[in-house]
Amino acid sequence: MSTHYRRASHYLGQVLEIDPEDFSRDSQRDTLHQQPAIQKLVEQLAPKDREAAPKVPGGSRMTPETLERRWQILNVADEARSALVDAQTLEQMVAYRRNIENFIGTVKVPVGLAGPLRVNGLFAQGDYYVPLATTEAALVASYSRGAQLLSEAGGCTAMLLNEGISRAPGFAFRDLPEVGQFMVWAIAHQTEFKQQAEATTRHGKLTDMRITVEGNHVYLDFQFTTGDAAGQNMVTIATQSICDYIQTHSPIQPQYSFVEANHSGDKKASAQSFLTVRGKKVTAEVLLPADLVQKRLHCTPAQMVDYWRMSAIGGSLTGTIGVQGHYANGLAALYIACGQDAACVAESAVGITRFETTETGSLYAAVTLPNLILGTVGGGTGLPSQQACLQILGLAGTGQANAFAEVCAALLLAGELSIIGALTSGEFTRAHQRLARKAIDV
Ligand code: NAP
Repeated sequence: MSTHYRRASHYLGQVLEIDPEDFSRDSQRDTLHQQPAIQKLVEQLAPKDREAAPKVPGGSRMTPETLERRWQILNVADEARSALVDAQTLEQMVAYRRNIENFIGTVKVPVGLAGPLRVNGLFAQGDYYVPLATTEAALVASYSRGAQLLSEAGGCTAMLLNEGISRAPGFAFRDLPEVGQFMVWAIAHQTEFKQQAEATTRHGKLTDMRITVEGNHVYLDFQFTTGDAAGQNMVTIATQSICDYIQTHSPIQPQYSFVEANHSGDKKASAQSFLTVRGKKVTAEVLLPADLVQKRLHCTPAQMVDYWRMSAIGGSLTGTIGVQGHYANGLAALYIACGQDAACVAESAVGITRFETTETGSLYAAVTLPNLILGTVGGGTGLPSQQACLQILGLAGTGQANAFAEVCAALLLAGELSIIGALTSGEFTRAHQRLARKAIDV
């Protein structure tokens, strides 16, 4: 997070209208901080005790009247309001009540279709058309190109390997002897923990508990499977029930505790999630003949591997977790379209892409994603347009989450092939210029 002092003095000079040379001028150095521009800025940044602007009214209420009251506090043109509140939004407003507070309307994000994407998975079988919601030009075109390439090769193979999502409460004790006693008690009460947790949900199952001790602090990582739901709410509620049980029954009481102590990896890329599993762990692979690579990506498998190797090192030099090109692009677009928690891209867009040439000159390409947080029920999956996108995939509702995870991995493989192809063949800049900047016939 550090900034070189020369860059800092240049920036401060711009903001405060100070000549950067003044920082080193003997006549200026000692009085610079008293200059009027700095005093003005200090005032600007200080807390203000004037009356607060009106609170947003109504909380979770979803009536036309509360909507009206919320818009009344905003000083914006009517066009802005009608852009967010159209007739359909008004009509469907109630459907959003469990997914939003202080509702003022809906944002329209364009949805494009990538595919067909042929997936030969343990759970996903067939040719999928994948809805992607994004405002980034060239994204859908790129994923679609990769998907068609995979399909032309007979499809990619995809395998769900593991699953599990956790909540990790933290407990603070006086000293290590208390920690030891608590651990013994907690290990001996797995059956009770399981009963407590599973009494809160029909689909959530407590599968494991990991213990991390740091000084007199204990983190208990409760691992669950959550059926077809992504499960973050489910595991929070179930873990709260375990924490309540601990509070009532443990002979060693912590001085304080929290239901989540930032040890689960929720919504951030972490080495722990990368090394184990958080959500669903999926791998997908394909073998592409050299002539197909040449025909569709305009380069050779060996050139693709040259790019992959250099970019793998580039990522390593910058401290990237995993080895990947742009998982976040496809994931964010798929998650937004299909009612997933878009913030989970932070943890899900981590994994390994590997390209190799085979003895026969073909290209072997694989992606492995240990942290796909996704579901086909719960969260935002039941909202009108998000549910429609899951239906386009043929993966809405019960019994579809595993297939959805495999399709997701296949999509990301398609995206890696397409972007690496574009960068290798030199088409990357041209494609973005053409699709994002040029006038397009409508
Ligand atoms: P949820 O909508 O809160 O829970 C899923 C619901 O679907 C449960 O009521 C579950 O019932 C029911 N269900 C019906 N059929 C199911 C099936 N086949 N498989 C699984 N569940 C089924 O969603 P969630 O997945 O637990 O949580 C996701 C949401 O949590 C997202 O919106 C995300 O933004 C949010 N989130 C919450 C936290 C948090 O700490 N609370 C953190 C991050 C994100 P049963 O429970 O009876 O099985």
